Formats: sequence, structure tokens, C-alpha cells
Amino acid sequence: MFIDSHCHLDFPEFQSRLPEVLANMQLAKVSNALCVSVDLPDFPNVLKLAQDHPHLYASVGVHPDYEDTPEPSFDFLVDTALKHSKIIAIGETGLDYYRMGDRSYESMEWQRERFRTHIRASIASQKPLIIHTRSASVDTIQILKEEGAERIGGVMHCFTESYDVAKAAMDMGFYISFSGIVTFKSATELQETCKRVPLERMLIETDSPYLAPIPFRGKINEPAWVAKVGEFIADLKGLPVDELARVTSNNFYDCFQIDRTTS
Ligand SMILES: [Zn+2]
Ligand SMILES: [Zn+2]
Repeated sequence: MFIDSHCHLDFPEFQSRLPEVLANMQLAKVSNALCVSVDLPDFPNVLKLAQDHPHLYASVGVHPDYEDTPEPSFDFLVDTALKHSKIIAIGETGLDYYRMGDRSYESMEWQRERFRTHIRASIASQKPLIIHTRSASVDTIQILKEEGAERIGGVMHCFTESYDVAKAAMDMGFYISFSGIVTFKSATELQETCKRVPLERMLIETDSPYLAPIPFRGKINEPAWVAKVGEFIADLKGLPVDELARVTSNNFYDCFQIDRTTS
């Protein structure tokens, strides 16, 4: 069985076809999925998905790309994470300078502050972090270090950085999660990085509705297709698919401190 460590099932793409998407997971042997929060107005929908479906989990947090949106306080994140047993992580949080455009480095301070708030809430609630980083890996690693994130760990989601960045994150106890991007023909460097990341530190994800893997590239992605990511990586690493599925699923439970007997 595979686990999709990162999806957005609350997004409008899924609203009318959730039963079908959940049935497809079962058919593809995808046992669980983590529904990741991106802002506070939508967070109740993410939580409800996890509460309504035993095999779905939720996180709480505000994505670095969401600028004009209510800011989450430390207290809100900690209280919410501790109040609901289906919330297993804080995030997605991190840094994204890709859309900075002409703006100055200083003008992105709000993002770094928001990131620090999430890390502090993660340590305080003992719920691991889901990290999003794009065009900002140096600052991401630096802030994780400054805030002592090795005390809690988590996952570097939809990983597209170099092996050195993966290594720095793994040294702090983080897992590295690969999405459908690794299956793209152009992703040769990422494939090399994926080969070097030990299976014991690896998670797999869809980031659906985005980033559908080959052979579904361009379509609306869904958690069932994490199986395609898993099959591709097993082939890349020369491993049986069953082993990749088993180890990455165990990694998911370890990463998010989930008791396997109750999951
Ligand atoms: Zn992300
Ligand atoms: Zn995401």
C-alpha cells in the first residue's frame, strides 16, 4: 500500500467528485493521504475531510504564497493542532521567493516571520513540519536551523532542490518527499538526487490537484496517482515496487508519529 503524503483534496477541482477520487485511491492501493492546509479560511474544510474519512489526515498552517490572507498566530496553531487528533502536522509552511518579482528581499520579511511562527508552533505542539521551499533553499535551511527545527523534524515536500539541500534537511531529521515532478523527462537532475536519497528517508506525494505524474501529465492529479510516482522511483532505484511502498509508508507513520495499531 502507498501513502500520499501531500494533497489538497479540499480544492474546488475535487468538490463534485470526491467519492470517485477516494474509490480510485482504494483501487490503486493507496491506503492514506494527508490533506494539507494552505490558509485559514479553507482550513475547516481540510479538517472536515480528515474527520469524515478514517484514512485521511490533516495539517494546519498557511502557505507562504498566500499573502493577503489572515495571519495564523502561534497560539492558534498550537491550540488547533493539539485539539484534533486527525491533525498530524503543521504546514504547509516555508519560503517561496519565486513570485517575489521586483520586490526587495526586505519586503519578504512577512514570509520569514510567518515561517518562524509555524516552526515554533510545531515544536510546542510536537506536530512535525510540512516544508514548502521554492527559490529560497538557503534561507529555508538557515531559518530551520536558527529555530531548532531538528527538535521536531518533518518533511521537505515536493522536493526539487539539490542533494546538498536534501542532505542538510536530512541532517536535521527531515524526510524528503518526491512528487510527480521526478517522473518528468526533463527532471534528470532531480532523478539523480532521488537515487542518492536513502529509501529510509523518503516519502512520496502527489501535491494534487497539481503536478500529475507521467503518464497523466497535464491532467488534474489525484492521490491514486501517487502509485505512479512510487513505481517510477522503484524503477529508478532498482527496487521492487512492494518494498518501496512498504518502506515509504512506514516512513510516513514514523515521520508523523502515527501509532500503526490505530491507523
Ligand atoms: Zn507546496
Ligand atoms: Zn501543497
